[in-house]
Amino acid sequence: MRVDSPVSTLDLNANAARRGLAGRMVIASLLCLVLLAACQPEEEHSAELFVFGTIVEVKLWGATREQANQAFAEIQQMFQGMHRDWHAWEPGRLVDINQAFTNGQPAKADPDIVEMIRKSQSIEQRTEGRFNPAIGALVRLWGFHTSEYPIVGPPPKQAEIDAILLHNPSSRDIHIEGLQLSTDNPLVQLDFGGIAKGYAVDLAIRHLQKMGISNAIVNAGGDLRAVGRHGDRPWRVAVRKPGAGILGAVEIRDDESLFTSGNYERFRQDEQERYPHILDPRSGWPVEDVASVTVIAAEGILADAAATALVVAGLDNWPAVAGTLGLTQVLVVDESGTVYLTPEMEQRVEFSGDIEQVVVETPTDL
Ligand code: AMP
Ligand code: MG
Repeated sequence: MRVDSPVSTLDLNANAARRGLAGRMVIASLLCLVLLAACQPEEEHSAELFVFGTIVEVKLWGATREQANQAFAEIQQMFQGMHRDWHAWEPGRLVDINQAFTNGQPAKADPDIVEMIRKSQSIEQRTEGRFNPAIGALVRLWGFHTSEYPIVGPPPKQAEIDAILLHNPSSRDIHIEGLQLSTDNPLVQLDFGGIAKGYAVDLAIRHLQKMGISNAIVNAGGDLRAVGRHGDRPWRVAVRKPGAGILGAVEIRDDESLFTSGNYERFRQDEQERYPHILDPRSGWPVEDVASVTVIAAEGILADAAATALVVAGLDNWPAVAGTLGLTQVLVVDESGTVYLTPEMEQRVEFSGDIEQVVVETPTDL
């Protein structure tokens, strides 16, 4: 910042009285500049918050230092609350709700949990049960209610899987009255692992916008929502590659979420066999033919749920399920590294390197 010009334009060779006045003016102008600097929008502010077992990077463009500090503190607090309230196995509100369901009792939720259930019910229906956050009992049976990966050992017995499938747990078994939840199905156990990050970034971006911040990105390890721009250019984000590294880059248009789900992230390892953490709720077994799915959609919660659902849909069915969800920007990577993507997604991704690509239309008349 230039602070020299106001001083140099003052006539410092005038009489003593003028010099006194000039001195006061110099101090006053310097003070103004210092104060102005504190409330002027600077370029970029960023913070790394450790939540949901990952680092969430929040970047703001054009906010003041005060706004940024306030935003980072408030978002950190929001995320800590979500971690506590939405956790599938650490003590908190969701564990209490699941316990009440097991006991056949009603449970009190909060507006965010109710919203996640409502959204889930609709997505579960539209994906014909491929996305189903009521399969917490199955996820637990497979040992995926842990932060320690990989899990080592054989899969559960088929009889144990069948005992859960027999009850057909579904988010649509949950009745909602205000904040009161109840179900007749004792095998309904909520697990928001497939949408929590998506809804968290939605709430964080909504909070920033309420604070008057219109250029921001909230990035939870490559799963993100971004609004506005990074100065004179769009926000530019990476598309994760199964395993490690990046497939390419995408420039965000105004307000978008980009989420990737993969069967490479968390898994159970049994000698040569690997069992990934995304389960097909209809069979009770992990899904395997897709290595990763990346979805771009406006809302984080939809992009997150859809990425999980399309992994379950697999190579044959992802275009139809994407069509039902109204998604046009999808990229799927199979186990051999071949990329299948919609024409709209092909327009968006700038690939790093030579990657075999197959463009696939999604049905739009569903
Ligand atoms: P994501 O990384 O967003 O694909 O979410 C995966 C997590 O969602 C898993 O670790 C489970 O907690 C949960 N999950 C697994 N399979 C499903 C499914 N078919 N539908 C909904 N949630 C699932
Ligand atoms: Mg997901």
